[in-house]
Amino acid sequence: MQISGTGTFNYCNYVASRGFILLPIVLRFFLTIFFAILGLAQLGAQTTPPIRIVASFTIPHEWCQVAVGQSLNVTCLVPEKSELHGFQLSAKDAQSLDRASLIIGMSPDLEPWLAAWVKANHREAKAIWLSPASPSADPHRWTDPQEALKMLEALHLALVGRLPPGVASPQTYERQVAEMKAVDQELRQLFGPLPEDARTMITQHPNLSWFAKRYGLRIADTILASGSAEAADPSARHYSNLLTQIRTQQVRVIITDEGQNEALARRLAKDAGIPAPLALSFEYLEPRGQEGDTWASMMRRNARRLHAALMTR
Ligand SMILES: [Zn+2]
Repeated sequence: MQISGTGTFNYCNYVASRGFILLPIVLRFFLTIFFAILGLAQLGAQTTPPIRIVASFTIPHEWCQVAVGQSLNVTCLVPEKSELHGFQLSAKDAQSLDRASLIIGMSPDLEPWLAAWVKANHREAKAIWLSPASPSADPHRWTDPQEALKMLEALHLALVGRLPPGVASPQTYERQVAEMKAVDQELRQLFGPLPEDARTMITQHPNLSWFAKRYGLRIADTILASGSAEAADPSARHYSNLLTQIRTQQVRVIITDEGQNEALARRLAKDAGIPAPLALSFEYLEPRGQEGDTWASMMRRNARRLHAALMTR
């Protein structure tokens, strides 16, 4: 019999064959766990889509970016240095809005083009309006730093409540709060000593009532009835009223909107015998790197120029 010989060989074969059986089992076990984890991770990625915040124009855009810091890039619809009144959404804008996790606008009165899209596409739950209830006929609430601060605080709270933990950035937010308070302080010091007869102006469209109220200035009237691009030129009667007000209310300056047609304002200033209009922009931020590229810089630049114009006789 060759049992002994084959017996030894059988034992080795046994160990070897068990090894071949065991190895794939162990391997399979770890591979199964590996792919299960991978699968779960992919599933997780599928169930939590990336956070996409879309802001209406440059000012809410800056505040959103401040609220989230470097953690994500906020999309802006109305480009820098562009008119927000009468803005029309492009196909690309609509696509951005469609994919947005959150949509930030100033107020439905100011951005009716955004309010209409939100309503038509049933995105009310994703929209955050910084100034939801129309507080006055003038929706340019951000021209008052105290109101801007309230809106920034409300935005920060809304984002902290809606975004996953760690996305909101308390550091950049706190810096912006301090900056807004500093701007307010500087502007109060700038306009505070202005003589009573140097505080009145006429604006091209109704956009500075908040600013004027905060710093004790007066808006005698506006050339246009609204900020809409379709706003009609004033009637002959309104034009003559404006002339009268310039004379009787000690209007020092006519403020026009930078980038807008100011032919009528020029004629009015000339007819009334006051200096040429001053073009300011409280409506958008400048391209990055230029003066006015942040809310604070825009406010300081406008205030400085307006103050100089009010002081000129
Ligand atoms: Zn405006």
